[in-house]
Amino acid sequence: MIALNSPVKPNLKKLFTLLEQVNNNGWYTNFGPLHKELTAKLEDYLGVQNLLLTNNGTSALQVAAKTIGSKSIVSTPFSFVATVSAFKWQQDEVAFADIDSQSLNLCPKAIKAAYLKGCKADTVVATHVYGNPCDVHAIDELSDNNNFKIIYDAAHAFGIKLNSGSILNYGDASTLSFHATKIFHTIEGGAIVFKDKANFKKAEEIINFGICPGQGVVNVGMNAKLNEYQAAVGLVNLEEIDNILDHRAELFNTYRHELKNVVDMPTWHPQANVNGAYMPILLDNKQQHAKLIKILAENKIESRHYFTPSLDKIFVDSNNYGTPNSLKASERILCLPMHAHLEFNHVAKVIKVIKSIKL
Ligand SMILES: *Cc1c(COP(=O)(O)O)cnc(C)c1O
Repeated sequence: MIALNSPVKPNLKKLFTLLEQVNNNGWYTNFGPLHKELTAKLEDYLGVQNLLLTNNGTSALQVAAKTIGSKSIVSTPFSFVATVSAFKWQQDEVAFADIDSQSLNLCPKAIKAAYLKGCKADTVVATHVYGNPCDVHAIDELSDNNNFKIIYDAAHAFGIKLNSGSILNYGDASTLSFHATKIFHTIEGGAIVFKDKANFKKAEEIINFGICPGQGVVNVGMNAKLNEYQAAVGLVNLEEIDNILDHRAELFNTYRHELKNVVDMPTWHPQANVNGAYMPILLDNKQQHAKLIKILAENKIESRHYFTPSLDKIFVDSNNYGTPNSLKASERILCLPMHAHLEFNHVAKVIKVIKSIKL
């Protein structure tokens, strides 16, 4: 079986040494020494400041929302459900604008059209889908004219740079997921990268019951802290990250090169690197889509229809500025096997099967 995904397995020898260290410290959570070390190493590796670790990527979105103080959002309909449910959770008013049909990211023209039609959302929530950067400069410009804040769901965008600077440095906040299925993981975990130090400080209180050391409770808070054992997993996995990113990028480029005249694929941002977070392709229609999934399965190759449905189909009580591109993409999209343990001969087999089918 060629698996769709296979989590990175932390080196147990190294992990045990760190866990022993945690036991010796007797400090298991609440911003301990490993938490501090992982924060510093991630900031350095990613080229960011104001990075706050959280216990998962969904709480990262929820805490970003509370910190920024969003009340109403315009979001992409083409993302994982958490991108939007995190805001619904805190009773934000949600509106959907369409994606660009080529990149599959929230379309700046659609955002502009929404505001021209009277949208008053205070925050735009966009996902760098499959790690492919949004048109961040166009969104920045719109934010200047329409006075909205920007939160990027960067759960897929670990290690992505735009013109050699981290993609996480755009927007008021970017959130990451360190779930076991992601490129870099702490089993469960996540992070928020804030533009402003003040927001970082506020969020640091929010994830710890709203407590400000020395002052007591200063905010409505929750508990969204990453613990020391999970920080240890992160430290161990971070040592492998260069190899993992290189390998995934090579697999991704191989797929893209071999399939470029065979199936449609989302267009990648021309000024960005690739991280091989996912391997999405676009079939022509529903019938072709169903046929390919079936034949891949017969050849013991896993694939996943991801993302579907378009989120406006789930959150039907939201404002909708029209999402034809998202509705279409959610029918045509299919993700092929992609993970750190995948080998080139696996990719060759997947490509061979796809090429052999009369689609
Ligand atoms: C994985 C993911 C999340 C949720 O992260 P968790 O760590 O699983 O809570 C949110 N948004 C996107 C786009 C994701 O892929």
